[in-house]
Amino acid sequence: MRLNTQEFRAVFDSIASIGALPNGGCERLSMSDEDMQARAALTALLEEEGFSVWQEPTGSIWARLEGEDPSLPAVLTGSHIDTVRNAGLYDGLLGVMTSYWAMRQIRREGISHRRSIELVVFPTEESARFNYPTIGSKLIAGKVSPDVLKSCLDADGLSLYDALRQRGFDPENTEPGYRRLTSADCFIELHIEQGPLLESRKTPIGIVEAIAAPTRLRVGITGEYAHSGACPMHLRRDALAASAELILAVEKIGQLEAVNHSVAAVTCCDLVKESMNVVPGQVMMSIDIRGTDIDSIDRCTAGVRRSLKRICETRGVKGEISLISRDEPVHMAPSMMHAIRKSCERCRLPYHIMPSGAGHDAMNTAPLIDTGMIFIPCHGGISHNPNESIEWADVEAGYNVLSELLLNRANRR
Ligand SMILES: [Zn+2]
Repeated sequence: MRLNTQEFRAVFDSIASIGALPNGGCERLSMSDEDMQARAALTALLEEEGFSVWQEPTGSIWARLEGEDPSLPAVLTGSHIDTVRNAGLYDGLLGVMTSYWAMRQIRREGISHRRSIELVVFPTEESARFNYPTIGSKLIAGKVSPDVLKSCLDADGLSLYDALRQRGFDPENTEPGYRRLTSADCFIELHIEQGPLLESRKTPIGIVEAIAAPTRLRVGITGEYAHSGACPMHLRRDALAASAELILAVEKIGQLEAVNHSVAAVTCCDLVKESMNVVPGQVMMSIDIRGTDIDSIDRCTAGVRRSLKRICETRGVKGEISLISRDEPVHMAPSMMHAIRKSCERCRLPYHIMPSGAGHDAMNTAPLIDTGMIFIPCHGGISHNPNESIEWADVEAGYNVLSELLLNRANRR
């Protein structure tokens, strides 16, 4: 199916412009007035098109294009429309709008399909307001209990639990969403890559094989505060110099595991007390390790522990390390990867099989139903930023693959 880009852009802009910022970006924080406005505008579009729309009790939006056999599990597609602060226009919204457009074109052109096709818009995908990513899909997938939402607070101390209730939702009533999600045939999410790989390879389509998961460590290094003029070099136990060695060691560990798509970095480094004339005595650091291969991630963690031990021994400082979190990477269904590959071949579009470094709602549906993700390039890999931008030719390519895949999957015997 071909995308009428001009027409699509006008409708896309009508939603993207909600929460518009003077710098060309937009901001629709979860459950904010702008988010609610965009949800209402989208719902109106869906109803206008004749889809049956359902506001699920915990806040997801569903729209259904009935197939010839409504008793068969539906093909599910979608993404999110909430954004980070000072966001770009395409993260999330592009997946929702291309899904909507494909359903609309299939309906308007009367293209036959056995299974129903459903759009799902997950709420609170971004952690920008409530500090917890993809929690809307986690909630109906049964990965978090509603109680967790009580401790997800925004800057004003309002919990996501109360924010949902204020907007008329019921965070406790997860069962209907869970039932609808788990009775679907599969879930397909189109998204911008948010990294530079596809653009650098000049490839329009990425087929996601796995979504990376973070392991987070907290490291404390304790040396000894000393006068930075009076203490001779050989007697110093400089915690910051020791930290510098660890920072470089973590980078090296990431480089060694890059072949397995893992990455590692010291992301925070704080001097507990600092003064112009004192040798630093205590430093706290955070380490973020991510990858799609849990063995590789665990090797990184073990490498960090070994490096810290060596640095402590040679420098006479004390090191403490604690594991903050260790999430499991999520693999996309091989059957969906295969189906996306076939769609690319039918559309004569080159593709690249790749991991996703960022988290998506698809990682919460994957343990429950066959899940696949289609990436399209974004310039310079820039995302979560008003400078986020795409080539419309890439959107057309993504749309071709998505619509082909939806129809194919909907007609599957
Ligand atoms: Zn997103």
